[in-house]
Amino acid sequence: MALQLENVTKRFGNFTAVDHLNLKIEKGTMYGFLGANGAGKTTTFRMILGLLNANEGQIAWNGKTISYATSPEIGYLPEERGLYPKMKVEEQLIFLGELRGMNKADAKRAIDQWLERFEVPQYKNKKVEELSKGNQQKIQVIAALMHDPKLLILDEPFSGLDPVNVEMLKKAIIDFRNNGATILFSSHRMDHVEELCEELSIIHKGKQIVSGSLRDVKRSFGRQNVRIRSDYDLTNLDRIRGILSVAHSVEGAVFQIEEEDVANELLTAALKEGPIRHFEIEEPSLQDIFIAKVGKEHA
Ligand code: ATP
Repeated sequence: MALQLENVTKRFGNFTAVDHLNLKIEKGTMYGFLGANGAGKTTTFRMILGLLNANEGQIAWNGKTISYATSPEIGYLPEERGLYPKMKVEEQLIFLGELRGMNKADAKRAIDQWLERFEVPQYKNKKVEELSKGNQQKIQVIAALMHDPKLLILDEPFSGLDPVNVEMLKKAIIDFRNNGATILFSSHRMDHVEELCEELSIIHKGKQIVSGSLRDVKRSFGRQNVRIRSDYDLTNLDRIRGILSVAHSVEGAVFQIEEEDVANELLTAALKEGPIRHFEIEEPSLQDIFIAKVGKEHA
């Protein structure tokens, strides 16, 4: 096991931010760590990195505690972006690279490559404060990646990036995984997690409430969506028993159901209203699962 957390608990005073958390992440896995605001994600990352001490439990990276000695193996993109506004991009990245054990020449080479790859070579000698928020974010991403870490911990890596930059960063992260790195990231964008992660956890108030492979998480949810496109009014279908939730739109409606029989009833009832354009039983999205598991209490 590359990264292992056993019964990890963190309390702030009498408030429990992380509650007996267990995680097992194998080498080369892209792992999604999900939870509502305040669920305990950042606190967990800080404990993994040794920036906060757990009150209980064990954390091991390749069997060892993460410390100054292992820090060259780790890349961290913190949630609070912390670059020095007055320092120039290259100077700053050299400094951060050296902290991770790189020599200056290697750092410079890596910086040039990454600035080029992220299409921002023109900012090399600009002060960080002169860059837009999204471009500052890219520089911080470079700081997390430039020393070629084996474990990457990314706290909301896509926040603040435009769609083109999101794709660029996704590709870079996938390349790291393909080269054998282990990646743990948090995101509130369920579509990104669905696209990238093989494994995931959802935590709620510091406790793990869902974990496993994306496929198993979807299967064990036990609900499906029935999507019907029709030019006719489908609101009569809402009365059918066994519908857990429904969303109508101009195109038709999506019904969440537990029993497959309800899908047949929906089809029959929809056809009574008029011809339909599309009928499909879909697996639930991660968004559906997240909302069903944490949404009610969250609201
Ligand atoms: P978000 O999605 O909003 O970033 P998160 O899942 O990363 O949330 P954390 O930042 O880990 O959440 O916070 C978990 C809980 O612990 C929150 O209720 C927060 O207020 C509390 N907390 C975090 N750090 C401290 C601290 N230093 N002192 C007291 N409480 C803290």
